[in-house]
Amino acid sequence: MTDSPGRAVPEDALTTVGCLIGGEWVSDGQRADRVGPWTRAVVSSARQATDSDVGSALRYARRGAKVVARMSPAARADVLERAAAVALARRDELARLLALELGKPVKDGLGEIDRVADTFAVSAAEARRIGGEVLPVAGWARGVGNTALTHRAPVGVALAITPFNAPANLLAHKLAASFAAGNTTLVKPPPQAPASSVAVVRLLLDSGMPPEAVQVLHGGGPVGAALSSAPEVGVISFTGSPGTGAAVARSAGAKRLVMELGGNAATIVCEDADIAAAARICAATGYSNSGQSCISVQRVYVHRSRYEEFLDLFTRAAEKLTVGDPLDAATDVGSMVDDDAAERVVSWAHEAAAAGATITTGGRRDGATVIPTVVASPPADARLIREEVFGAAVAVRPFDDFDEVLATCNDSRYGLQAGLFTHDVRRIVTAWRELEVGGLIVNGSSNFRLDHVPFGGVKDSGFGREAPRWMIDDYTVVKTLVLRGISLFGDQEDAR
Ligand code: NAD
Repeated sequence: MTDSPGRAVPEDALTTVGCLIGGEWVSDGQRADRVGPWTRAVVSSARQATDSDVGSALRYARRGAKVVARMSPAARADVLERAAAVALARRDELARLLALELGKPVKDGLGEIDRVADTFAVSAAEARRIGGEVLPVAGWARGVGNTALTHRAPVGVALAITPFNAPANLLAHKLAASFAAGNTTLVKPPPQAPASSVAVVRLLLDSGMPPEAVQVLHGGGPVGAALSSAPEVGVISFTGSPGTGAAVARSAGAKRLVMELGGNAATIVCEDADIAAAARICAATGYSNSGQSCISVQRVYVHRSRYEEFLDLFTRAAEKLTVGDPLDAATDVGSMVDDDAAERVVSWAHEAAAAGATITTGGRRDGATVIPTVVASPPADARLIREEVFGAAVAVRPFDDFDEVLATCNDSRYGLQAGLFTHDVRRIVTAWRELEVGGLIVNGSSNFRLDHVPFGGVKDSGFGREAPRWMIDDYTVVKTLVLRGISLFGDQEDAR
């Protein structure tokens, strides 16, 4: 175990943020400081929401919901389109905040902000497409002579609870889709990234989002629980760990929920794969953001005939990654969220080694920075295989039989996404059918996401699908209109 001395802290590194309640930024009151995992200095300070703030926000949200619902979809889409442009204009500033609060390399942060812009633009396009149906009611005798229509009405008040690892784009998904659907949103950011989260909210407010459309309440579990249990809230979109997700569901009671939870994603490398490309891609996507992604490459299963070749290339690719100052544009791997997380990752690698695995590189940390760690052939019951490591350690194991490796991947409480390297179309189709996951990436690792493509899990990885089109379904209710004795299609003659 090592510990780092304090590092150079850039001037103006401290960002102070308030809660946004009833259209006002509230700054006075109790604050929580965030110490950056790389700089070891306070980088942000957030006003913490009180019980009375939660009450005020909920009252204001009821009124806010009416204001947003009355906006036209065109007006909402215009705001979101402007926000996409503003996000790109502010990408350096936002990536810097992510680096300071989380130790996320600016390289990854810039990528996240580019995706925020995409998420806003896609949400704008989907806002323009929200519609309904004219139902074929005359197809059944009792319907003849009538008309039935549906449209999708906003739920009203949405609650967005976000995790620390991608606080900008995950908030963008929740907030933009909710606004596109015509709701007001209560935002409960992660305590580790309050300033990055507020910066995303500001992108929208500065692009013309009305103050009635969003409120921000900083705090930890108790603030999240108070908001989750509120009867005013109609839908909760939660991203975080399975344990917290279960707690949110308990507080929420009978409410609509979208749960994006954890994973221990597997990637399969078959004997016909381009092994060099697979090794390079798995290293780039297994250690980006220090492995702190729900779909980060955690378990790689390689056909035994190519195992040694893959392990060697993969280990060398991991060693080539530049580890260090997240603010440096050349850095590939910055810090994890805190020292405890880094210590957990390293200890799981050594626990696997004690049970017979080989650490081919890494296996140590410098403060909150985990040196990219490759663990070869850990036992199947190692925590590194069975639990969510959520850090810069990747397990590699050989397999002999394709059907068997599919069963091995499925032997998990999680099922978010999987990767498969092969050119064999029969295997691709079999894997798509058999793997218990929300999505399969072929000739890529598990860690790939397009923001307009549905994303989400099965089993303990959650339920519901994120991507604006699918989220708008969750953020709206189907509302039916039946016109008795009025037919759009001239079938009154038969009406009973
Ligand atoms: P976390 O569960 O600790 O916290 C998530 C959020 O829930 C935070 O805002 C936290 O303050 C809040 N919270 C805590 N207790 C609460 C309570 N009782 N009621 C309401 N809210 C409460 O998760 P984390 O450590 O910030 O994030 C890491 C986890 O998120 C990992 O498990 C990761 O896999 C998961 N994740 C999933 C996805 C996905 O799309 N499936 C994406 C990113 C992260």
